[in-house]
Amino acid sequence: MAIRKIVTLGDPILYKKSRIVEKFDDRLFELLDDMKDTLIKSEGVGLAAVQVGVLRRVVVIDCGDGYIELINPEVTERSEELQHETEGCLSLPGKYAVTERPMTVKVRAQDRTGKWCLYKGTGLKARCFCHEIDHLDGILYTSHLADEKYQKNMGAD
Ligand code: ZN
Repeated sequence: MAIRKIVTLGDPILYKKSRIVEKFDDRLFELLDDMKDTLIKSEGVGLAAVQVGVLRRVVVIDCGDGYIELINPEVTERSEELQHETEGCLSLPGKYAVTERPMTVKVRAQDRTGKWCLYKGTGLKARCFCHEIDHLDGILYTSHLADEKYQKNMGAD
């Protein structure tokens, strides 16, 4: 296991689409283990493989209610109810903004054995699911900024 370097804004890889994972092998397990270490070290709530320079559809999340690994994740349902909360990204260090996201989402994803699992997230977890799955399509949270009226004073710019 190892800490991997997180790519930051300016690296064109962040805008690329990640490829489907087909092989559930040692290379995938090593990536997952490294991503877990990197997530813990950086004190984030989520990390997509593209953020460590690997264009594979792999996400790790820990919103404080347990660590999960999502392989080939898809959002299958979004609530009509929205939330406007502060979001940041390990690839945009020191920056935060209020985004507009669904309040609740349902996600299907494979685990490291290839088994499909269903997840539901509300609040922070829904934001996290949306944010990380967007990364797999080269989309950053700055594409989901809420209207000016929702923007909060984040202190020093
Ligand atoms: Zn991010």
